[in-house]
Amino acid sequence: MPRETLAFRSKQHASHSNTARNRTRLGKQQQKKEFRRRGVFPFFELPFELRHEILKLATLQSNTTTSARSSPGPSSSSSSASKSYQQALCLFLTCRWLYEEAAAIFYRDVVLDTRASSENGGPSSPTPFLVRSLTPRLYVRTLRIRFYVKEYHLGLFHTVYAPILRDMAQNGWLEHLVLEIGYQFPSPSFWGGGHLKNRAEELLCAPLFVTQPPFQGFLKMLHGFSFSLPMKVAVYLEAADHPPFWCAFHRAHASGEGACGGSWPDGGTQLLKIRWTDLVKTFAGAKAPPAESWAVDAI
Ligand SMILES: [Zn+2]
Repeated sequence: MPRETLAFRSKQHASHSNTARNRTRLGKQQQKKEFRRRGVFPFFELPFELRHEILKLATLQSNTTTSARSSPGPSSSSSSASKSYQQALCLFLTCRWLYEEAAAIFYRDVVLDTRASSENGGPSSPTPFLVRSLTPRLYVRTLRIRFYVKEYHLGLFHTVYAPILRDMAQNGWLEHLVLEIGYQFPSPSFWGGGHLKNRAEELLCAPLFVTQPPFQGFLKMLHGFSFSLPMKVAVYLEAADHPPFWCAFHRAHASGEGACGGSWPDGGTQLLKIRWTDLVKTFAGAKAPPAESWAVDAI
């Protein structure tokens, strides 16, 4: 086929295409005019930064620490949390585009406090937000979980939470995982065994529960995260009351190495950061000593 013919056909095709595009553009302009006539605001024509600020105001309301954000989802009990969630839900249901932009703001920082359920006694179920909110959880960038070292709660990390958290980091936006360990610790006899003779031995040996599957599973999860995920993990401990074996893994008190002893002298410090990589190195795979080496009398 002669080149001129090709050029002519090509030009004809381009012209036809441009005409089609013009028609589409005119159609969209007509549509926009119609929307404006009806009072519909073209929200997505705003710059991203402006949309972000508007959605922030709409989803987070007047503060950034509402209980809705601490415990996102319809299960939240407080009326203000429920109202905030319902308002956010309306936005989420508008369209996929708006859902993605609003969810990225609403679920950016999430705090899950599992301590309240453990205070009521009996085993609690895994936190619903992590287990059921399959899509929302992928939008979380910073997740803070507060829990007690109780058998069921601790066991959940390895058996239930670990694959979920891995999914959130690999397929979602999770960048920071903060684990806050509350003050209610099991006694050394909680999972069998007796008390140690004195606190010096506790520092060396640690309570028996560190050898048990829930705690070992927790260490295994931390170990796995440190090698395979692009996510920062931080572990904090209740400063006011903790078994003294933890003292080997947090910063020393200004007044001396042994000044803490399980109760941080400075009342202003609520949480102590734990060097969890050292914790894993020290206790991963730890075995309980023979029963005869334990003193059965209480301290
Ligand atoms: Zn301490």
